[in-house]
Amino acid sequence: MKLYQTVNKVEKLFTILGKDLNRFQDASKLGCLPGCGLCCHKADIEASVLEMLPFAYHLLKKNKAAVFYEKLLPRMNEPICVLLAPVLTEHSEGFCTDYKNRPLICRLFGFSAMLNKSHKPVLVTCKIIKESDPVNYEIAVISIENGGYVPLISNYFSQLRNIDPDLGTKMLTINLAMVKALEIVLNYYSYRRKPKNSG
Ligand code: SF4
Repeated sequence: MKLYQTVNKVEKLFTILGKDLNRFQDASKLGCLPGCGLCCHKADIEASVLEMLPFAYHLLKKNKAAVFYEKLLPRMNEPICVLLAPVLTEHSEGFCTDYKNRPLICRLFGFSAMLNKSHKPVLVTCKIIKESDPVNYEIAVISIENGGYVPLISNYFSQLRNIDPDLGTKMLTINLAMVKALEIVLNYYSYRRKPKNSG
């Protein structure tokens, strides 16, 4: 499979997931607090290289991949994601400096479920969401217990692995996954015509 085809498949998965998350959030009325971003400050968030390919590919299209890669190398073992902006500015949309191309867990966390030992879905969310809206949180938990819809984390990771088992299975710390994704994209286009930047 050509690299852009792999990227397209991952992006399609992100789009499907976005719709599924909207469905859950619309029904549960749960959402992040404006300007929060606390979950991005967690150390050692993990992603597979495959999830970071769209990020690397779009950086390459903007002719920024090589420069970003050089800057990232000395920081690749830092525990906090390098895409996290330290402060919100007037024009920033959030703490993530590449929100559109963030990996799966950054999309799923807060509004999805994992299966417990009895194979029942359990909502994976944060203390802030629970405490800021305890009524809707409780309603969502009860709804899930009774078979209500919630995106299942394992489902999206399984779809990701199906796209490319080699790149979609092993989990790395997010900065390392970015490094590897950039290396793949830079190597691939070192002797091919670069894709045009369509925005
Ligand atoms: S990729 Fe973006 S959303 Fe995910 S941890 Fe980094 S800054 Fe946060």
